[in-house]
Amino acid sequence: MLELPNIPAVALARRVIRTLREAGHEALLAGGCVRDLLLKREPKDYDVATSALPDEVEALFKRTVAVGKAFGVIKVLDDNIEGLDVEVATFRHDGPYLDGRHPSSVQFTNAAEDAARRDFTINALFLDPDSGEVVDHVNGLADLDARVIRAVGDPRVRFKEDKLRLLRAVRFAAGLNFDIDEATLTAVADMAAEIKVVSAERIQAELTKLLTARGQSRGFKLMLETGLLDAILPEISVMVGVQQPPEFHPEGDVWTHTMLALDLMDYPVTITLALGVLLHDVAKPPTFDDSTDRIRFNGHDKLGAEMAGDILRRLKFPNDVIERVQSLIEDHLKFINVPKMKTATLKRFVRKPHFEEDLELHRIDCLAGPGTLETYKYVRGKLAEFQREPEKLKPKLPIDGNDLKELGLPPGPQYKELLAAVEDEILEGRIETREQAIAFVKQQAQLP
Ligand code: ATP
Ligand code: MG
Repeated sequence: MLELPNIPAVALARRVIRTLREAGHEALLAGGCVRDLLLKREPKDYDVATSALPDEVEALFKRTVAVGKAFGVIKVLDDNIEGLDVEVATFRHDGPYLDGRHPSSVQFTNAAEDAARRDFTINALFLDPDSGEVVDHVNGLADLDARVIRAVGDPRVRFKEDKLRLLRAVRFAAGLNFDIDEATLTAVADMAAEIKVVSAERIQAELTKLLTARGQSRGFKLMLETGLLDAILPEISVMVGVQQPPEFHPEGDVWTHTMLALDLMDYPVTITLALGVLLHDVAKPPTFDDSTDRIRFNGHDKLGAEMAGDILRRLKFPNDVIERVQSLIEDHLKFINVPKMKTATLKRFVRKPHFEEDLELHRIDCLAGPGTLETYKYVRGKLAEFQREPEKLKPKLPIDGNDLKELGLPPGPQYKELLAAVEDEILEGRIETREQAIAFVKQQAQLP
């Protein structure tokens, strides 16, 4: 029998299902959690589907939130554990889709029709957590077994209803390492351009799931083959065939390098690192130049950061994510200079916020290309050394603007420069005390 993990989320889902049943309703686990349990993967959340109407669900539980009452979705909150909840959705049948995005209405109905409105057969299974019985109205068990993503019903009709499903087909195939059924795949390829009617927010959510689960490179290859990539990230599809100097990139073109890089990420991976890896060379196609001794991509770090900003704003990623990804890309070539860097410059580089992600992008970039980790190891060693004296990595300066004023220096931009120069000296280990700092400033400003 199917074992459910012994965790609070499951206990809550079981309790909710029992309560609903005792009140005379049908209630089952539904969707992603059933699929994941059958695949022996850890479900992200446990969703319940029921014949009870939203009002009836609300009446049965003390603490509820009507998250999507029009669609019949009520969140039931745990009595004791803060932040723990389960979504309870009334079996529903979606009315006509008029805009290619959402149903114009929903009707509450039975489990079989609820299975029929779901996207893929493996996502349309129900599970009785007490008996372990799987309720399968769409032949989803066979597809799980065969590891196939197949639309429920006619794929063209289902994709026409909601065009996000085009991308979801690829996202599930990639994340689960499943194949896409032939008719479903053909429909995705035929209809790929229509993904554009879907809101940026929904596309972003699917891309985020694709990029932070395993199988990303397969997902991107499927997106490329079906034309989805051209529709949502044309800046990535143009990487195909963009040659690189073989002495630095024996692996091949920019696309091959980027796909290899995605495969080299460790898990769990943050969305910022994943986007940084995906986009670090996004400006190689527009900066490609083979007019000199070898192929060059001058300025692809800076232009790449700008392009990433445009792409991620278009996909409505939050500003903090965008800024961090831009910073990763803008700085990804700095590692080349690390062996020659002054200690002060290196210390300033490594103390940038989230430097671990910069270093991880560098590791991945190397392994997906030349394969040498010399600089990576050097930086690791330096980090360990610096961390033995953390106060010397971001030292508190022994003097400030007031001291400069007392020395008789006129306030102005030179204050900032002088204090930065003092910090440099401290980072280099040439200055420690306040007296030394004042002597240094006097000498710099040519004071007697
Ligand atoms: P994940 O674990 O990655 O979240 P999931 O299967 O739970 O996967 P969700 O997007 O959370 O995916 O959706 C939950 C369930 O709702 C799906 O399993 C599917 O049955 C149904 N569903 C979600 N989005 C759609 C859609 N666009 N069209 C039809 N059914 C959908
Ligand atoms: Mg889910």
